[in-house]
Amino acid sequence: MEPLRKKYRLILMVIILILGALSSLAFLLLSFQMESIYERNIERSIIEVKKTFLKDNVDNLILNIEQEHQTQKTLFVRLNQLAEIALDGYNSYNPEAFLEQAILYFEDPIRQTYLTVLITDSATERILYSENISDLDQSLSFSEQTKRLIPLMTSSVKKDYGEYQVFFGVRESRVEDIVEENIRDLIHASRYSNDAYFWVNEVVNNEGGDNYAIRLIHPNLKDTEGQLLSTNMTDIKGNYPYLEELEGVKASGEIFYTYFFKKMNSDVVSEKLTYARLYPNYNWIVAMGVHLDDISTYVTASTEESNKNIMWMLLALAGFIFVLIGILTIVMNRIESWYYQNSEQELKAAVYRDPLTHTYNRRAGNECLEKTFRAYKISGESPAFIMIDIDDFKKVNDECGHDVGDAVLIKLAAVINQRIRNNDKLFRWGGEEFLLVCQGLKEDNIDDFTRKLLDTAASVDYDCCGQSGKITISMGVSYCIPGDVDEKDAIKRADQGLYEAKRTGKNRSCYIRP
Ligand code: GH3
Ligand code: MG
Ligand code: MG
Repeated sequence: MEPLRKKYRLILMVIILILGALSSLAFLLLSFQMESIYERNIERSIIEVKKTFLKDNVDNLILNIEQEHQTQKTLFVRLNQLAEIALDGYNSYNPEAFLEQAILYFEDPIRQTYLTVLITDSATERILYSENISDLDQSLSFSEQTKRLIPLMTSSVKKDYGEYQVFFGVRESRVEDIVEENIRDLIHASRYSNDAYFWVNEVVNNEGGDNYAIRLIHPNLKDTEGQLLSTNMTDIKGNYPYLEELEGVKASGEIFYTYFFKKMNSDVVSEKLTYARLYPNYNWIVAMGVHLDDISTYVTASTEESNKNIMWMLLALAGFIFVLIGILTIVMNRIESWYYQNSEQELKAAVYRDPLTHTYNRRAGNECLEKTFRAYKISGESPAFIMIDIDDFKKVNDECGHDVGDAVLIKLAAVINQRIRNNDKLFRWGGEEFLLVCQGLKEDNIDDFTRKLLDTAASVDYDCCGQSGKITISMGVSYCIPGDVDEKDAIKRADQGLYEAKRTGKNRSCYIRP
């Protein structure tokens, strides 16, 4: 391959490689960008799922608390009703027996645990029996005492029984204690994946500050249940989770927030997402949280596959570039050889054809003669050489003009070329002289053949100043003979033949036999 071709091919390959490398780089950058968007989206989706999980669980727990609260309230209403039925029964007794039976009834250990009781003498307002009233003020009347107690009760009964005024009921705080205990058992027994758990703080001071809340239930820090909390508490990163939580629930009853906290059954501290909601009946903040450090595991697992895909696509791209280079090389080779073939043909036409008559020129004739002579030397077989010259052509030029002369030359070449076989070749030897090389034309057939050529030439007519003109030709024929040194000897004999034909009257052929 010539250096120039080599060079431009190399340049083309380098350009393709650079373009391939650039497009791979662009693809890689785009992939990384897509991947980081994808990662962010996964992260966001996981956080959304976690938020939904936390909110659903906290909402359900609050529903449980509410249900528990209602159940306990109903139970205590029933407890009061039973007490009332019992006292109504004792009312048929005499006053002393009534008091004795009533006290006996309220001193039952279960009732003693739950019921707040006050029995006074209707006439003197003297307190005859009390239960679960720690701050009993002897100076207050029965109605004043009950007025103070009723708002603290979840349900109560106030009734006169003859000489006695009786009040009993269950304190709201009692219900809350029982609900707290049941919910604590429930929370402590609950198990969630990813170390998620509930906790409950009771806000005692909505303004915040030290001792603003009590840690009621906390399965991760059971020992600290009952401890007082402060909104000034910070996590290891300086966040104020209790303050943020209090302000959030005060503002909208609920809040999602993050902070750093120790993981369940471990000393590792990591970021935690928490949902907290206020249960206003008890001023409880019910919360649940999950740590976020597992997100990277999910993200890595999801991006691993996309990384693999990116690698495969890159390999495919590299493969595609190599295939492209291969295809381009093949296409280039084809185009080049097609181009060279075409240009070679054009070149040959330019070098070997006569521009006027489009038949072969003298250069082609010389090469053909050399080849023919070499072949003759090997095979001993010679084609016939027929030297053709137009008779009195000068006259055509002189009388009709050079253009008419040209047209006659073109026509003659054309008709002879039509007349001869494929193997035969007509060369414009010079001026109005042609050399016809006829393969396989035997000496015996020369006369017939040249006669046909005379007829062919006679068919050429031309227009000269409105009058039609005809031409004739003279021919000299020869063959290679054993004594010939080269092809020129045979041509010389053809020239002699032509001369002889002219000399003997033109419009004929002459074969000079050796
Ligand atoms: P003869 O019968 O003896 O061959 O007579 P002639 O007139 O043909 O011979 P001569 O050699 O005297 O004249 C040949 C003429 O052919 C002279 C020249 O002007 C003309 N000729 C040669 N080449 C061309 C050509 O390309 N075009 C034209 N129109 N004429 C040409
Ligand atoms: Mg001549
Ligand atoms: Mg002539």
